[in-house]
Parts: sequence; structure tokens; C-alpha cells
Amino acid sequence: MNIALIAHDKKKELMVQFCMAYCGILSKHNLCATGTTGKLIAKETGLAVDLFLSGKQGGDQQIGARVAYNEIDMVIFLRDPMTELQIEPDVAAMLRLCDLHNIPIATNIATAELLILGLDNGYLSWRDVVNPKNSKKGRII
Ligand code: PGA
Repeated sequence: MNIALIAHDKKKELMVQFCMAYCGILSKHNLCATGTTGKLIAKETGLAVDLFLSGKQGGDQQIGARVAYNEIDMVIFLRDPMTELQIEPDVAAMLRLCDLHNIPIATNIATAELLILGLDNGYLSWRDVVNPKNSKKGRII
């Protein structure tokens, strides 16, 4: 499966801890991330992560485009509800695209854990039917 990882600045450490805790599961899948989040995950966990641009440079939109093309099977977007006080266009756009394509998306750690455990239990195998490219295990970028 192709899993996209994004974390707002205050949630990056939590994302790293999440990736460490579920390294065994995540290593079986193709991971991609916005630039800063992905570099941190790769450095701290050793996981292979395909890097998009940083969020500020449009990395969220690059991932959103992959969602729009139905190339992403799960999004974990750890948002910071405390400092992002304005309307969050990055989160809103991603939620919309995921809703459009029925892509599971977690915006907090509790849901992220459920999704990753569900993935490991095979509850997302329907995505192989919807997105047969997965079976080729090809990288997305
Ligand atoms: P970043 O982007 O990983 O490059 O910091 C995440 C974000 O959109 O805040």
C-alpha cells in the first residue's frame, strides 16, 4: 500500500514516535511524506520514505494530487489543532480529496493507530481491487 505521512511542526515528534512504534508494519509498505516530516522520519527510524516538497512549498498539494489520481491508499496527517487557529486549507483540501476517493485518513494519533493496525489485519485489502497498481509494489514517485 502507498501511505502518505504529514505532520504539522508540533506533531512531528509524535509522528516519529508513531513510525518507530509501527516500524515493522510501515516497512512493508511504500511510504511518502512532505519534505520535513519525511526527512525526520527517515533519519530517526531508518524507514525508506519518498520525499515530496516541504508543506510550505506545496508538498501537501503534491500528495493531494496523488490522492486525486487514486494512487494513495492511506493518509496520516497529524494536524496541530492548537496553533493552526485559522482555517487550515491544507487539511481541508486533503480531507475533501480523501472523502472524494474514500481514502482512509487519520488526523490524530488515536485514529492513526487504528488505521495502521487495520491495515496490518488486512482490512484495507479492498484497495488492491480499487488501485491494482499496488500489487506491482511500484513506488509512486
Ligand atoms: P513539512 O510539511 O513536513 O514539510 O513540514 C508539513 C506541513 O504541511 O505542515
